[in-house]
Amino acid sequence: MSNKDNIRVRFAPSPTGPLHIGGVRTALYNYLFAKKHNGTFILRIEDTDQNRYVEGAEQYIQEALQWFGLDTDEGPDTGGDYGPYRQSERKGLYAKYAVSLVDKGHAYYAFDTPEELDAMRLREQEKGNHSPKYDGSIRMSMRNSLTLDKQESEKLIAENNNVIIRLLIPENEEVVFTDEVRGEVAFNTNELDDKVILKNDGMPTYHLANIVDDHTMAISHVIRGEEWLSSTAHHVLMYRFFGWDRPKFAHLPLIMKPTGKGKLSKRDGAKFGFPVFPLEWRDGEDLYQGFREDGYLSEAVINFLVLLGWNPGDDREMLSLGEMIDAFSLDRIVKSGAKFDIDKSKWFNQQYLINTPTLKLVPIVKELLSNKSVDANDDFINSMIDLMKERVTFIDDFYVKTKFFFNDPDEFDNKIFRKKYKAENASHFQSIFDKLGNLSSWNTDEISGVVKGYVNDNGLKFGEILPIVRVLMTGSMQGPDLFPSMALIGKDKVISRWESSMNSLLQTLDN
Ligand code: GLU
Repeated sequence: MSNKDNIRVRFAPSPTGPLHIGGVRTALYNYLFAKKHNGTFILRIEDTDQNRYVEGAEQYIQEALQWFGLDTDEGPDTGGDYGPYRQSERKGLYAKYAVSLVDKGHAYYAFDTPEELDAMRLREQEKGNHSPKYDGSIRMSMRNSLTLDKQESEKLIAENNNVIIRLLIPENEEVVFTDEVRGEVAFNTNELDDKVILKNDGMPTYHLANIVDDHTMAISHVIRGEEWLSSTAHHVLMYRFFGWDRPKFAHLPLIMKPTGKGKLSKRDGAKFGFPVFPLEWRDGEDLYQGFREDGYLSEAVINFLVLLGWNPGDDREMLSLGEMIDAFSLDRIVKSGAKFDIDKSKWFNQQYLINTPTLKLVPIVKELLSNKSVDANDDFINSMIDLMKERVTFIDDFYVKTKFFFNDPDEFDNKIFRKKYKAENASHFQSIFDKLGNLSSWNTDEISGVVKGYVNDNGLKFGEILPIVRVLMTGSMQGPDLFPSMALIGKDKVISRWESSMNSLLQTLDN
């Protein structure tokens, strides 16, 4: 075996649509656990259900993992000794395992047609059984290899019409296992149905493929969402039936809606106006937002996600991937649902933007601007990022909130102008304007020297001059420090903008 501790974990998504943010968290916890223990992080694509297969979903999953930097040690693209890593490419492997369970008396063939199954459900409902299952109370009244004689069964198996294999669940037994998150979990087998493990087309169902693959891939820990907890009873039984050691299980808490009520769903994204998918996803007419396209840094999303259901054991909130790996342990995963707090994710993004060295942001912002047809050189972008860094939440804000660096404002905060502008100061504004025009070197100190010097020398108040200058330059009261911004905008632009803004604003006073 390839690694020291023999820790082998897998992220096993089904390519039935885009990866939900909860899936990313599952991948992240698996990744952290593997890295912490010098283990192996495996990607396995569970694509046995052809009906639910969605074109592009696997690429989406791979791209999302890549964006987050959750590199796999083994997987469909990475390769590895336990491949193939797509269940559709392992098709031929499963049937013999299902048949071996029949041979051992732990599974049986069933021949019921869809109509017969419907009739059974109806019959049961009429009897007051509201969630009829193919289980111990029912199986002996159905058509299967337990109720038909051997000859007839063999004939039906040979005809292969509606033939499936079901697990034979023992009666009234406690299935007990220890979950690394929840402690001891027990199910009574009377609650369990005789799950289908092999379908008529010879394809395994999730349960069989999952167990066979976890076993043959030597998975040591199954770390997955809470929605799979109830399947685990079946899985534990299957390990016993096969006579295999079972992996350890850890079921992660649900991610809840921002209201705290109910599981976060893909529709919540549109409803609350935030992304629940890592990357954008188009489904026919519907476009689902992605964290990436919404201007989040992948590190910030990871940091936000890791704390949805786990904590490092102290009050640290900002954790690099390396720190997460060091601190990670399954016993600090919580049992209760974790509320998805979008404001917190924005806060993380802000913190990460502030902490990212400007030089690293330059190419990202450059690309953003050039996508918006804004031309700027690296030095300019560098200075602009320094000025804006503390004021942005998303990468996109480097475009959305920086337009005044490039273009004259097309809208003005008239209210503030009306409030602050005094006609008797007109000549002062003219003098400041002239002095700026006469500056031979154009930088923050010179600009500030002119404006502040003039205000002081003439016994004016900053509050009657600076807000006006700001509105002239940016259109509003918001924005980064005024003088360095003016320095960056450049002398020619400042001069021409001053004039045109002043004209527009004075006109509004007349109305
Ligand atoms: N294919 C399952 C899913 O889509 C995997 C569950 C598991 O990890 O066992 O989540």
